[in-house]
Amino acid sequence: MKEQLLDVLKLYFGYNSFRPLQEAVITSILQKKDTLALMPTGGGKSICYQIPALMMEGTAVIVSPLISLMKDQVESLQANGIAAQALNSSNDETTNASLRFQCQQGKIKLLYISPERLLSEIPFLLQDIKISLFAIDEAHCISQWGHDFRPEYTQLNVLRERFPDIPIIALTATADKITQQDILKQLHMRNPQIFISSFDRPNLSLTVKRGLRQEKKLRTILQFIHRHDKECGIIYCMSRSISEKLTNILQNHGINAAAYHAGLRNKEREKAQEDFVKDRIQVMCATVAFGMGIDKPNVRWIIHYNLPKSIESFYQEIGRAGRDGLPGETLLFYSFSDIILLTKLASQSNQQKLNMEKLHRMQQYAEADICRRRILMNYFGEAMEEDCHNCDVCKNPPKRFDGTIIVQKALSAIARTNEQTDIQTLIEILRGSAGENIIKNGYDKLKTYGAGREIPTSDWKDYLLQMRNLGYFEIAYNENNRLKLTDSGRKVLFGQAQAVLVVTKHPSKKENIPPKTYSKTTDIQTNSFISPLSTKEDVTLFERLRLLRKELAERQKIPPYIILSDKCLHQITAIKPKTIEAFGQISGIGEYKKEKYGKEFIDIIRKFTTN
Ligand code: ADP
Ligand code: ZN
Repeated sequence: MKEQLLDVLKLYFGYNSFRPLQEAVITSILQKKDTLALMPTGGGKSICYQIPALMMEGTAVIVSPLISLMKDQVESLQANGIAAQALNSSNDETTNASLRFQCQQGKIKLLYISPERLLSEIPFLLQDIKISLFAIDEAHCISQWGHDFRPEYTQLNVLRERFPDIPIIALTATADKITQQDILKQLHMRNPQIFISSFDRPNLSLTVKRGLRQEKKLRTILQFIHRHDKECGIIYCMSRSISEKLTNILQNHGINAAAYHAGLRNKEREKAQEDFVKDRIQVMCATVAFGMGIDKPNVRWIIHYNLPKSIESFYQEIGRAGRDGLPGETLLFYSFSDIILLTKLASQSNQQKLNMEKLHRMQQYAEADICRRRILMNYFGEAMEEDCHNCDVCKNPPKRFDGTIIVQKALSAIARTNEQTDIQTLIEILRGSAGENIIKNGYDKLKTYGAGREIPTSDWKDYLLQMRNLGYFEIAYNENNRLKLTDSGRKVLFGQAQAVLVVTKHPSKKENIPPKTYSKTTDIQTNSFISPLSTKEDVTLFERLRLLRKELAERQKIPPYIILSDKCLHQITAIKPKTIEAFGQISGIGEYKKEKYGKEFIDIIRKFTTN
């Protein structure tokens, strides 16, 4: 059996081995058992139902919540020579009628469909076609506990009753227990087989930078993008206006960036998304509206310009990088202003307590001085035994020092202003600023005025964040964000306790902002970060292969990654296959792609190597 599964995997998808749990899930479905598969983004869920669909008699019906997701899946399958189609509202009725006819004739192996459409098609499906299995993709949409609840999904409960002999498989990347139970219950699954794979994404590096001033933040971002020359990434921003401003700034630095948020017209949004998917835009400055429904496997990095509101959102957003399993780099910025704004929003929301708690956990993550991945995995109920060595804390453990005097200066200034100042004013007092606000309130007469002049503002911000997290003072969010001392703060202030702080980290000043060398017209592609091409010749060959891929993609009007993945292109460059058979040996190239593209790629390699 195992051999047979591997044959199908190689034949259609070109891969030589299964990812963890894929084989177990496939076997369960082939045995016609109801199955729940929980795997992280990029874990390879699709193949879990696609292989059974190919091996079983009849048509597999796949419920998917978004047209863009269906389109991507169908194009990927068709690119592997598999008969897949989508029945949805973006088709005209003639197309849908013809699809129904093809289903009746048993010509379609996988039929993607939206939940509401499925319900209206039940009389037809039930009567006329042979169904091999039902796959419910993004199955967490069925649960009110999940974050993407869709009322249409709840009606899928009729499937079990109406189709008693057909296996149902539910797939999701949302792991929490309540959602899990809800999926089983709502779908009326019978004796379900449950498969949960690790949610760790070891290929994603994790870094947090706190309290950076605006210009430093920008400088850090420009350096970051410069390092990722031509590699696509997303910058998540807290608001529409931030995403637009940032887009402008990046464009002024010659970076190929676009904005994406709910305020754009549908057309503009769709265009921005399509340009990003097709490698025509390198950087997307987006609000959280961007991401769902994008299966682009070669997003190489994610920056959070602001602190996300929960660990769930954060993990989902960084999860959009490195779906292809190659390295992805993530960077999170956060500052007092984020905390103040998010706290305000959470306290005004319906589920105040829950949202405050979630924000608090997010903050703890950002403040951590232990391995960040351990915190994440722990949050999702998965204990990690060892440090990850791929987060900033692991790579660069924080250095500590006795910060008692610094803390005392700040706390003393808080006390001397009768706890009436906010962070900004406190820093101005400590730095001895002659601002209007300071003079007007007579703060320049305080004993602590200018007592922290030698410490730059950005360091003060960082120390104050630390002090707040150490519980030395609180921010009264509902009283103009004024600062109030706590008991443990008073202990330090009166010399009864010591305060240990972490040395602040700064982005290097030596690295200059990159020159404007990007061209807005050239398309984007992955490069050295993934697998340094060893020679200049390889770089040239890679470029030629990439151009061919782009041409093929444009001719067929599909994204380049659907033709061949970045991983494939790198392997072809390294191995330089000169026969069609050798080309077909490469991981990710199945029989169909071998026949369809082999010759054109080999021609380039042959010409290149005889030159
Ligand atoms: P998910 O839906 O879980 O986010 P996908 O099904 O889109 O993930 O798969 C993510 C990527 O991994 C795809 O590019 C897919 O082709 C690839 N992939 C899946 N299974 C394997 C495998 N066994 N070997 C190599 N690559 C795989
Ligand atoms: Zn770590």
